[in-house]
Amino acid sequence: MRGGRTCRKGMQKEMIRLSQVKVPLQHRDDDIRKKCAKLLRIAPADIEAMRIVKKSIDARKKQEISYVYTVDVKVKQNETKVIAHTKGQSATIAVDHPYRFPEKGSEPLAKRPVVIGLGPAGLFAAYALARHGYSPLVFERGQCVEVRTKDVLRFWESGVLDPGSNVQFGEGGAGAFSDGKLNTLVKDPLGRNRRVLELFVEAGAPSENLYGGKPPIGRQAAYRDRCSGQRGCQSEKRDHPSWRGDPL
Ligand SMILES: Cc1cc2nc3c(=O)[nH]c(=O)nc-3n(C[C@H](O)[C@H](O)[C@H](O)COP(=O)(O)OP(=O)(O)OC[C@H]3O[C@@H](n4cnc5c(N)ncnc54)[C@H](O)[C@@H]3O)c2cc1C
Repeated sequence: MRGGRTCRKGMQKEMIRLSQVKVPLQHRDDDIRKKCAKLLRIAPADIEAMRIVKKSIDARKKQEISYVYTVDVKVKQNETKVIAHTKGQSATIAVDHPYRFPEKGSEPLAKRPVVIGLGPAGLFAAYALARHGYSPLVFERGQCVEVRTKDVLRFWESGVLDPGSNVQFGEGGAGAFSDGKLNTLVKDPLGRNRRVLELFVEAGAPSENLYGGKPPIGRQAAYRDRCSGQRGCQSEKRDHPSWRGDPL
């Protein structure tokens, strides 16, 4: 399935956002297409492109557990007329809110910007700075995620706490060892959550994270991928033994 907008004969082609697309647990992509076509009262061949926006489970009826999708659909016909024909179906023109990076500053910095802590906030602050061409210096008091994983496992097995390397402190921050259910922020008007999910997928997380109801991307593996993807090859040693500066 693919998504996006195209121009046809100089006109911007909109996508139709169709919610409540219900299919059985066992289904193929083609079944979603057929169901969308049925709801929109068009032929499946009239659907030019589809993009899954959200996927959830409806388990209210034990005998009829199903997946419920929200799908963006590009159709051959005029989309406004197609929506008008759906008569009460949950179909609207899809409106996206792509995340806009903060504007770049106008004055060059005399020194490298410094980010303290490589939790989610520090990680994405450093990423934004790097995207703007700065070379942020990130200080993280804890261990890299590989060492930290071993320290946390040792704590869970033996109860012996390393105050400098544990669930709270270290590369990836406090949520790196959660069960992985991130706040989905589905109504985030700034599109930040979507951008974070896209970055995780770009770093190797399964693309289903973009539309799954509770994306399991908080696990340390995702952080490790993200962190090692962003981390530079060199590492600078600082005077203080518990501080590590990783130039990005
Ligand atoms: C067990 C657990 C499970 C969680 N599960 C979820 C969840 O499922 N969903 C969800 O949305 N949220 C969850 N959270 C909350 C989430 O982890 C936090 O909201 C998030 O980590 C905050 O990000 P942050 O970058 O602001 O801070 P932190 O993640 O706390 O990162 C701060 C970083 O700074 C470093 N640091 C601290 N002091 C210094 C210093 N002096 N010098 C250098 N570095 C320093 C720390 O080592 C750490 O890496 C969970 C939290 C915990 C503890």
